[in-house]
Amino acid sequence: MTGSGAVVVVGGGVLGTMHALWALESGFDVVHLESDLAARSASVRNFGLVWVGGRAAGPELELALRSRELWEVLAEKVPEIGFRPAGSLTVGTSRQELALMEEAFEREDSAERQWELLDASDALEVNPELSGAVLGALYCGADAIVEPRAATQAIQGYMAEVPGYRWLPGRSAVELADRAVRDDSGAWHRADWVFLCTGARLTGLVEQYVERPPTRRVRLQMLQTAPYPGRLTTALADGDSMRYYPAFDLPGRRQLEPQDETAARSHAQLLVAQRTDGSLTIGDTHDYEEPFPFDLDEAAYGHLLSKAAQLLRQPVPPVRRRWAGVYTEMVDKLRYLYWREEILPAVEVVNGPGGRGMTCSPAIAEASLRSLVTKARA
Ligand SMILES: Cc1cc2nc3c(=O)[nH]c(=O)nc-3n(C[C@H](O)[C@H](O)[C@H](O)COP(=O)(O)OP(=O)(O)OC[C@H]3O[C@@H](n4cnc5c(N)ncnc54)[C@H](O)[C@@H]3O)c2cc1C
Repeated sequence: MTGSGAVVVVGGGVLGTMHALWALESGFDVVHLESDLAARSASVRNFGLVWVGGRAAGPELELALRSRELWEVLAEKVPEIGFRPAGSLTVGTSRQELALMEEAFEREDSAERQWELLDASDALEVNPELSGAVLGALYCGADAIVEPRAATQAIQGYMAEVPGYRWLPGRSAVELADRAVRDDSGAWHRADWVFLCTGARLTGLVEQYVERPPTRRVRLQMLQTAPYPGRLTTALADGDSMRYYPAFDLPGRRQLEPQDETAARSHAQLLVAQRTDGSLTIGDTHDYEEPFPFDLDEAAYGHLLSKAAQLLRQPVPPVRRRWAGVYTEMVDKLRYLYWREEILPAVEVVNGPGGRGMTCSPAIAEASLRSLVTKARA
């Protein structure tokens, strides 16, 4: 696939970075603008979970599966991404959770998700760090992990060696015109195509041109521990995660016991990913009402830490870091996977992948460039 000409990408998060990479590899020169000195937003604040198993059947699952393939291929070129085909275990601690897993396992696309239904002893064999509280698990062989604090910067470092790439950190895009962007130093960047991947920050640029974006913002709380003494062979999700992922939207979901009060109030699910240094990234909560709190809610952390302590064989290490992050998702996220709109001639917004953005960015960027190259050839 070869294009020619120039592309401007606004946003140095994972979505913008994947667009820059695919544009470069498709033969375009790329100017890449980022407001911060390095990406500091959702793309570095997430779990790094390439999460395929819980996706809705059909296009969402296809997008996640394609992305999973692309992450793996990319990691051969950029090993600092830290891609591990670790798989995941969604673990059950009640009869109702196990019943919902069994029901999900009967889905006709179960094999595509590489799901396996495990009893307690099989789950322990797959991940020996589980505690005796785990009664069974749904293993997903398609899930993987990357290192969020390193991945986007590593890809940008890789691109810096490729002729035709210009990374401009500390430059905010402030004005748009047909095929062009002005940054806050006053410089205009003209191109054949402009991708706006500004994440949760739509004010200041995109909202000048779009009255009502089809997205909403979601705020999450996260933490990271000191190194855990054991090795988690898989990522982990608790039974509450099945309340949120669309693959589990099945009759058995309504039979789940009421969620713990603190968890319900903060829309919490437990996800755990072990980092390459042994520490655990633990989350998350979901706030949907703006204005978001500016501070962190300790009760929600208490719930997540006690859930992690319940599911792990060894004590959860001390917390070293806490943070919140914000992503954008489609208001109608069951119908639309993300927001793609040409808001001025050859100026396109790509945004709103939601809680699946780290997973799906490679395939979203691939689709963007396929469409651009087709246009360039026409
Ligand atoms: C806590 C948390 C956990 C998550 N966990 C996962 C996970 O494990 N797996 C998964 O698949 N997804 C996960 N997600 C979702 C995923 O992180 C996001 O969907 C994804 O990072 C969005 O990437 P982005 O590039 O669109 O946005 P961002 O990462 O927000 O990047 C946008 C960038 O654009 C820049 N920018 C904005 N305006 C301008 C401008 N005018 N000029 C120049 N630059 C500008 C910003 O500074 C920013 O760096 C999580 C999200 C959060 C918050």
